[in-house]
Amino acid sequence: MTITGEMLIGASAVRGTTKILHATNPATGEVLAPEFHGGGAAEAERACALAEAAFDTYRNTSPETRARFLESIASGLEALGDTLIERAHAESALPVARLQGERARTAGQLRLFASVLRDGRWQSATLDSALPERTPPRPDLRLQKIAVGPVAVFGASNFPLAFSVAGGDTASALAAGCPVVVKAHSAHLGTSELVGRVIQKAVADAGLPEGVFSLLVGAGVAVGTALVAHPSIQAVGFTGSRSGGLALVQTANSRPQPIPVYAEMSSINPVFLLPAALAARGAQIARNLVDSLVMGVGQFCTNPGLLLAVESPALDVFRQGAIAALAEKAAATMLTPGISQAYDNGVAQLSDIEGLRRIGSGQTASGPNQARPALFETTAERFLADHRMEAEVFGPSSVLVVCRDHEEMLAVARRLEGQLTATVQADAGDRAEAGSLLTVLERKAGRVLFNGYPTGVEVSYAMVHGGPFPATSDTRATSVGASAIERFLRPVCYQNVPAELLPPALQDGNPLKVWRLTDGQLARD
Ligand code: NAP
Repeated sequence: MTITGEMLIGASAVRGTTKILHATNPATGEVLAPEFHGGGAAEAERACALAEAAFDTYRNTSPETRARFLESIASGLEALGDTLIERAHAESALPVARLQGERARTAGQLRLFASVLRDGRWQSATLDSALPERTPPRPDLRLQKIAVGPVAVFGASNFPLAFSVAGGDTASALAAGCPVVVKAHSAHLGTSELVGRVIQKAVADAGLPEGVFSLLVGAGVAVGTALVAHPSIQAVGFTGSRSGGLALVQTANSRPQPIPVYAEMSSINPVFLLPAALAARGAQIARNLVDSLVMGVGQFCTNPGLLLAVESPALDVFRQGAIAALAEKAAATMLTPGISQAYDNGVAQLSDIEGLRRIGSGQTASGPNQARPALFETTAERFLADHRMEAEVFGPSSVLVVCRDHEEMLAVARRLEGQLTATVQADAGDRAEAGSLLTVLERKAGRVLFNGYPTGVEVSYAMVHGGPFPATSDTRATSVGASAIERFLRPVCYQNVPAELLPPALQDGNPLKVWRLTDGQLARD
């Protein structure tokens, strides 16, 4: 498949008329062909009009039709073979093995939503029988969830496959029955086009309306802002910076009809190291934590950017182990020059804070856009007094906060902003402390994990990749896992609707054989 530098608007390939964009290899600085011509408000308008025109037909396709459509996208991605991996590698500097794993995850995610569709619980079909003899009589009430409408998706820089054009936002929106208009991330334009063409072909092969999917390209804010402001768009999925996410929330809230923005933004993912665990396996935890910190050059939203422990001899073993492990870690190329510069600035800002000491470093950079890993240390007292230490530094940097006692650790936990994850390293002797922490952490994070490391997000039914602000803009949602579909659905109650007009999931006899709650009883037939 050839990359042409065009946008994909419905069934057409369109050359934009605004600024010319290039993808760049961050490892070499090489400008990658071809040129992309960005679009503007006119292209956003065309894509949204097509999405609106497609909506009723698409949302009324059977769950089986949409399941097969998602599966054909998964197969199409796999069929791209090395072409996709080589382009993604050139545009992101992410290792080939990592990208192969990410492709498998992306295909697996699409197939998970196919299973979700077939299972039918996503519809929340609920029937309350009429009670005509009751005073007052109860009408016949039937509830199902339906698609919200066309969805705008902003691809993330740090997962060019799994959180991008065919990533979790797109997969869950398409599963729900929502047409999708993607704004490609400017860091991986060629990868975006390759994946976009797979989806475009899957739309045609399935005989779906062309407006089910479009892919827009554009630098800066024009295309993205026009997309979110468009009256046909009914929800937004975004992964990126806090400033970008908040700008889109503001655009969405300024519309005559405000719409939800599901923005995943910033998180420092605290890791609490409890005393018995540290005493038993401090050196091992140090090695594993450093591996988690530098994985993917720290460019994971779940990167462990904050470590907390009570001062003790065991903490010193941990500290020395972490410093030694970090010293062996090479500097590595980040995703874009901008992200690399932001990392250097973030580390420099931490270095300037009084009372925050750099205690560990990885090896020095030897090429362009490389990040040198960094470990800082401070006391809980100083951390509580200075909010700057809590800022996300996107990359392999972490701050160790040393607490006087468990009460002080709890005080830090209570003060933290919302997080995607919170981790507790605890052994049997830590049970009381772990219990008191869990009570605080379940209010702070979308996922609380014990005796593990926060990087590595399973795509499954129970996963939550979300959390209170600023981890996300909507604390009720997850952007990974089967529940991600909930963001793009809304409930409708059908009251005394004639049998012949009821949607299939709510008809007598349950023709779709979906799970339904009928007069309080859950059954599939
Ligand atoms: P970003 O700057 O927020 O960009 C993400 C996407 O949103 C891009 O498509 C971008 O357009 C668009 N965008 C940004 N600001 C916008 C605005 N005001 N209006 C409309 N569209 C807007 O994120 P990034 O480029 O991926 O990385 C920059 C920083 O984001 C990183 O240094 C890191 O701090 C953070 N980040 C966090 C996570 C996370 O998971 N928490 C993931 C990735 C990045 P363009 O393509 O034209 O730039």
